[in-house]
Amino acid sequence: MAELRCDGALITHPPNVRYLTGFTGSNGILFLSPRSAVLFTDPRYELQAAEECDCRVRVVRGSTWEGVWKHLAGRFRHLGMEADRVSHDTWAHTAQRLGRGARLKPLQGLVEKLRRVKSEAEQEALRASAKVCSRAFEEAARLLRPEMSEREAAAEIEYRMRRLGADGPAFETIVAAGARAALPHARPGEALLGRGPVLVDMGACLGGYMSDMTRMLSFGPPSRQWQRLHQAVLEAQQAALAEVRAGAPARKVDAAARRALKSHGLDRFFTHSTGHGVGLEIHEGPRLGAKSDDVLEAGMAVTVEPGVYLAGTAGVRIEDTVLVTAAGAEILTPAAKEFMVLAS
Ligand code: ZN
Ligand code: ZN
Repeated sequence: MAELRCDGALITHPPNVRYLTGFTGSNGILFLSPRSAVLFTDPRYELQAAEECDCRVRVVRGSTWEGVWKHLAGRFRHLGMEADRVSHDTWAHTAQRLGRGARLKPLQGLVEKLRRVKSEAEQEALRASAKVCSRAFEEAARLLRPEMSEREAAAEIEYRMRRLGADGPAFETIVAAGARAALPHARPGEALLGRGPVLVDMGACLGGYMSDMTRMLSFGPPSRQWQRLHQAVLEAQQAALAEVRAGAPARKVDAAARRALKSHGLDRFFTHSTGHGVGLEIHEGPRLGAKSDDVLEAGMAVTVEPGVYLAGTAGVRIEDTVLVTAAGAEILTPAAKEFMVLAS
């Protein structure tokens, strides 16, 4: 805060509030100054906040923001606020209520930057989350049938995750059958899995920490074309994983995946970046893309997920959640990466 010349700051993005205080409720506004930390919330969270937080808790009846504004009025000259996380309305009201001569300063990505490198406890949470994700995939895969819809398959996968202890899915599970796998963010629908390849992209949320994994399976042996795509993507994923280590520029990991796909003439079908950070959110820093300036550090958790998408025909992606270490990538999602062939 001294660096940013702020004498106070408001943190409102729930994962940031959780990271700094332990509070998991949906309505918490954290006020920080060099002398104090106060979490403002409403009466629904009175007991929970007292249990979870290691800072002062102020329970406000009525509008929580009103309580915050009263606390701030006339006391601060330069107040930091997460400009990319609040509405224009809230920003304007806060500026007005601070009083004359005071200024709001945008704090962009301040707490997010702190969150990139995970503590030992966070790394353990990520390992546990990824383990549940992998096991749920293996358990659910055995129960899938060609006559099930994508939606039923996704439900089965999410049920398994919860049975294994997950708070829930980290995001809406993607189950995309046949040519629908060419849509990188396909929503599971009424389409049947059918006798052919299926892409499954899933993640668990466990103790607040997310995992993310993509695997391919097939009812009956996949065609030569699908096998070729799968082999190329697997090579790209392994080439990218080999570049993951502390000190590596994130864009080198992305370049390795693209180079491998280029050798198969498939690089132009790889239409997204190679990976993203994971933690309290499913997408956070660093970014593993061609234009990323991020440098990997030990303790970061990232995904490595090259894919190729041939519109109307086929799509293959292989994704792991990994921890960055000095020696390389520690893979947290151990489920086998071969095309899983199920009886048709
Ligand atoms: Zn994913
Ligand atoms: Zn991902």
